[in-house]
Amino acid sequence: MRAAAIAAQKKLGRKTVVVLPILYPRELFTAMDVHTVELWGPPGPPRGPEAGRIQPYACAVVRNALAFLASGGADAADAVLFPHTCDSLQGLATLVPDFGGWKKPVLRFHHPKGEDRPSARAFARAELSSLACGLERLTGETLDAARLDAAIALHAEIDRIKGALLRRRACLDLDDPALYRLLRRGEFLWPEDHLAELQAAEGRIGKERRRRGVPLLITGYVPEPMAIFDHLASGGTFVVADDYAAVGRRIPLGPPARGEDPIGTLAARTFAMPPCPTRAAAPARRMEYLSALFRRSGAAGVIVHVPKFCEPESFDVPAIRRLFSGIGAPLLHLEGELEADLPAQSVTRLEAFAEIVESARSAP
Ligand code: SF4
Repeated sequence: MRAAAIAAQKKLGRKTVVVLPILYPRELFTAMDVHTVELWGPPGPPRGPEAGRIQPYACAVVRNALAFLASGGADAADAVLFPHTCDSLQGLATLVPDFGGWKKPVLRFHHPKGEDRPSARAFARAELSSLACGLERLTGETLDAARLDAAIALHAEIDRIKGALLRRRACLDLDDPALYRLLRRGEFLWPEDHLAELQAAEGRIGKERRRRGVPLLITGYVPEPMAIFDHLASGGTFVVADDYAAVGRRIPLGPPARGEDPIGTLAARTFAMPPCPTRAAAPARRMEYLSALFRRSGAAGVIVHVPKFCEPESFDVPAIRRLFSGIGAPLLHLEGELEADLPAQSVTRLEAFAEIVESARSAP
């Protein structure tokens, strides 16, 4: 699907940039008429031996990405962007040109870490401006403020609908696998094409359906393998609240605050996102957020689904355990390695967890 999306955009004369996880200013790319395709691994076995150039205790996202780039998997793209999500990705950004044989431009983007403050805003502005210069070099075009304003409005609408679909999922005639497939198509579609699909889904929001089964909150990194939703359904559970870094955690908490100019608006947006350990959110703030999400959604249990060796996500796990054990909510910590399918052991654990949550719910 990604290859077809790149080919379609090439026909329209657009350049493509492959983007590593997680957050990046999509609006800048859209304003510069640059197509982005996100690379979350990809899942499955590494595409070549270069994965072995990285220590085995690094996450599968980084190892698979190196193998994929080195094996020519992204050769149709014109550049690659490494957001500074974590030390492993920053290390990969340094290694790829040497180890991976990636000869095309490499862009980098550093997030301000921690809470909103004047120095962090200034840092965000400087990084955004530097990335804009990189895109100008790549395209030979100049960033136009009016086009950036239009791109900000376009992505704000995409985010609004995604948020509405996640919040009102009980009113949709889409099951979890179909909803997540739709939301994740934004990882490779041109934004206006994705918006059209989202608008069609929003138009199908109807009356609340009574869903049978056990409602769960899911937090973690990326829903891979996507078969996790089929296994949840066959175990009698479904997702009512999402805090995946790849999905719900990328939707701003409110409408975009206007900055003094479009770059200022993008800098403000950085601080409007749900708390995320990859941006060094204060754990107390994140726990408050998760606790409110859990209460609001009516979830009866929690799944923490993170990649093995992911330091930022793993850092918060003890606090998440404490939070939910304090309110008596069952929790399952599921580690994965971006397998193509869910290992049998994980399937068994999901099934057992569904029974635990069900019996905790029906206990007097
Ligand atoms: S899975 Fe974790 S450690 Fe790996 S690239 Fe993503 S944030 Fe970094």
